[in-house]
Amino acid sequence: MSFDVPFIRPVFPPSRIVGQDFDDIVAANWYTNFGPKEREFRSSLEEFLGEGNHVVTFSSATIALMGVIQSVLGRGDQSKSVIVPSFTFAAGPEAIQWAGYAPLFIDIEPESLQPSLADAERALRERPSEIAGILLGNTFGIGNPQMAMWERVAGDYGIPLLVDSAAGFGSNYPDGSKVGTAGLAEVFSFHATKPFAIGEGGAAVTRDADLAQRLHSFQNFGFEGERGAVVLGINGKLQEFNAAIGLRQLVGFGGAIQSRRSVLRAYRDEIAGGAISMPGGIDESSVCFASLVFPNRTVRDRAEREFSAARVETRTYYFPPVHMQPQFALADRVNELRTTEEMSDRILSVPVHQDMSEAAVALVTGVLRHCKDFC
Ligand SMILES: *Cc1c(COP(=O)(O)O)cnc(C)c1O
Repeated sequence: MSFDVPFIRPVFPPSRIVGQDFDDIVAANWYTNFGPKEREFRSSLEEFLGEGNHVVTFSSATIALMGVIQSVLGRGDQSKSVIVPSFTFAAGPEAIQWAGYAPLFIDIEPESLQPSLADAERALRERPSEIAGILLGNTFGIGNPQMAMWERVAGDYGIPLLVDSAAGFGSNYPDGSKVGTAGLAEVFSFHATKPFAIGEGGAAVTRDADLAQRLHSFQNFGFEGERGAVVLGINGKLQEFNAAIGLRQLVGFGGAIQSRRSVLRAYRDEIAGGAISMPGGIDESSVCFASLVFPNRTVRDRAEREFSAARVETRTYYFPPVHMQPQFALADRVNELRTTEEMSDRILSVPVHQDMSEAAVALVTGVLRHCKDFC
């Protein structure tokens, strides 16, 4: 089925511009392996994030997550766990398994949809010898309002705090600091579905220069200079062509975020005073999409049908939550994950585009107005 308003519609530079970049790459005869485009993109990302941040680009966020987990915790033998929310995209828990660890699922908070700090603290208190690390998810790319407390708790227990901020490039934490600068390392995705889209790609950010060096080695087959492979690495390099698109996307990215936020405000104005809500902090995010929380599954499902009838494509992120997916059926969890299961039944995510036409915004707000009546 085709939609008048598709769930995503990234804006890429025109073919004339991309064609020039491609000509540059061919002229340089340098297609991947940290060429001039990748190096310039990397330093532009460091500039964007501010002084002291080291960026390592990757071919995807998933490979970056594998690299961060292995490079910080060491390669696991499946005997230790990494705390992770189940209300996330499967790539995080999958990266935990690839690095040799078992995911230990925690629940989320009902208002913010962010991972439950109380659950993590209980797990750290009750099974300290079992836990190797925490992979916090910044839900939907929204900066966790309790990040300072997470950092303190992780510090108190001496447990590394890693952050999956895949959809959060361009988001801010409530204190105004940039998403990307918390924990030991944060990971971004630049996949076509994210607000900062280059096709396939990602990055890890850390203030630890030595960790950045190990991440660089991981993505390059574990090579270290003349010695060859010193750890189990992989090919996770970002191609020159994607880096070139990233450089173009960075220009005017601030305007793109403002445009996304203004679409979000139009949706918010429409649902004001009704029973539909949005997770806190979404206004300071780069607004990958607008997640709407409905009072129950019945009205959520009805809203889904209404959007579909109006030819607006929606998604039920994150449904099913990761612990309910077959690959993770046997994975450990700290409790019943009730809030995760309830909220995954009540959420519908609707499209937010960078250059959304007034007609498209009106189509979405029109359906929202109607949803308000039956919610
Ligand atoms: C998109 C996403 C990923 C995966 O990113 P890729 O670049 O596609 O590997 C991982 N985690 C979360 C939370 C995501 O939203």
